[in-house]
Formats: sequence, structure tokens, C-alpha cells
Amino acid sequence: MENSDFRADLHCHSTFSDGSDTPLELLKKARDASLSGLSITDHDTIGAYTPDFFAAAEGLGIQILPGIELSSELGDTTVHILGYGFDLASTSFASFLREMQVRRTDRNRALITKLSQRNMPISEEELVAFARKHEVQKTIGRPHIAELMVQKGYIKSRQEAFERYLREGSLCYVSGFKFTPLEAIEEIHKARGKAVFAHPHFLKTGSFLRQLLALPFDGIECYYANLPFDLEARWLQIAKEHHWIATGGSDYHGVFKPHISLGCSWVGESTFDALKLC
Ligand code: AMP
Ligand code: ZN
Ligand code: FE
Ligand code: FE
Repeated sequence: MENSDFRADLHCHSTFSDGSDTPLELLKKARDASLSGLSITDHDTIGAYTPDFFAAAEGLGIQILPGIELSSELGDTTVHILGYGFDLASTSFASFLREMQVRRTDRNRALITKLSQRNMPISEEELVAFARKHEVQKTIGRPHIAELMVQKGYIKSRQEAFERYLREGSLCYVSGFKFTPLEAIEEIHKARGKAVFAHPHFLKTGSFLRQLLALPFDGIECYYANLPFDLEARWLQIAKEHHWIATGGSDYHGVFKPHISLGCSWVGESTFDALKLC
């Protein structure tokens, strides 16, 4: 019998990627929001899932679903893929994530070289020191580069940094370092997890979306912070047609996206259970 009080936020970021809260702070916020379940979905890392984290979750009575948000690329458009309920000890997944971090470091290096050529010098050491305030095993990417550009006075806001220099197709964008969506899905499956199409409303519609909807996903993210009701209904319909699990979460990033609160989008117990490792 489904517990109607059960709510789980399946999408949030910690200090292991580009969120401002540590995993333990996320747990406390989850408790304050009366959530029963949580999945931390950091970009390209499972660093948040330490024994201390699981022990703290148990102490607070919050169920944890292992999660990740993988960066992939189709053409030169970034596509995010959520993985849930995979085996955290999978050696194939660990080596896939290591390879992703190597490629990401190369991409960051190419990107800051382009910025330096435009009189906005940032050294690799400086970027790493700036981004790694908390965790050593951390995914460093464009959000940190944007923040550092603001701090160094090169640009007024993070948004402007993306608009002018960092977003796809802009002056310093570097493509080609990411795996394809199919490769990311296959790696999640190899680790016995469920692959979910993240925030499909961010992508262009038409043939691009159709290509993605033909991939072997297990679910699609239908509930999302501030998503208009008609779009939610559209993804729910697609989930039904494909027999996919309809997932959801806030995509909370702490102070970096202050308009989003943890738990503002969530799923119930049966969805949470359907995503667990089996
Ligand atoms: P990366 O994985 O390092 O390429 O960075 C991707 C992250 O940058 C995404 O998860 C977003 O948080 C952020 N991002 C991407 N595009 C934009 C944009 N146009 N404006 C603001 N943030 C963005
Ligand atoms: Zn993010
Ligand atoms: Fe995302
Ligand atoms: Fe996210």
C-alpha cells in the first residue's frame, strides 16, 4: 500500500559538483522539507555517497537512492542523463567516470586557453583552487569558470559569462569532449541502474528531440521546478507511450539557483521503489 506522505526529491547537486550545500547539509534540508527520500545527482561524480553520508541519512530517517547526472553530447548540444539505483561499487562505472573526468580536465584547459586569448587569463591551478573549496573529488566545469570570471572582474555576472563566452555556440565554447547519450545510457545499464532523460524541456524540439526519445531510456523527468503544467502533461504522456518511469526532482543547486528550493518537485514511494537497484 502506497504511503501517501512519502515524497522524494530525485534531483539535486552538492559541493561535489556545482551545488553550494554539502551532502550533509542537503540531508538536513531534506529533513526540514519533510522529505522521506533523496537522490543527490551530482554532475559526473558519485563522490557524495560516502559511508558517513549513508549513516547520517539513516539517523535522520531519510531513504537514499544513489544517483548521478551524466553530461553527454549529441552533435554539439549537451544532453543530461540521470542515472539511478546503479551499483555504487561497479568497477566499469568507476572507470567510465574516471575517463569522463580526464576528458573534462582537457576541455577545461582548452576553454581557459581560449579565455586567456581574449585577455581573461585564468590558470588551471587557480581554477582548481577556486572550485575545490570543499571536496577533492569534485567535478569542475563551466559554472566554476563563470564564477571565477565574475570574481576576477572580467564580467559582471555568471549569466553574462555564459551568454557571451561559455554557452554552446558562443565565443569560447569547446565541444567534443563528452560521450554520446547512448554511451552514457549503456554505462548506467552496465552498472545495473536506470537511465532517465533529464529535463527534456531544456532541449530543442523536432527531430533532435525525436532522436533522443528513440534511445533505450528507462524513464523521463516529468516533474521539475517551475515547469508549466502543460509541459509536465506532455512528458507524462510520452512516459506512458514508452512505458517509461515518470521521475522528478527540483534540480536544487543551493545559492547558485536561489529561486529553487529542495523538495519543490518530488515523486511518490512507488516511483522511488521502481528506481532502486534490483
Ligand atoms: P559543464 O558540464 O562543465 O559543461 O557545465 C554544464 C553546466 O553549466 C550545466 O549543468 C549548467 O548548470 C550550466 N549551464 C550550461 N549552460 C548554461 C547557460 N546558458 N546559462 C547558465 N548556466 C548554464
Ligand atoms: Zn548543475
Ligand atoms: Fe542538468
Ligand atoms: Fe541538475
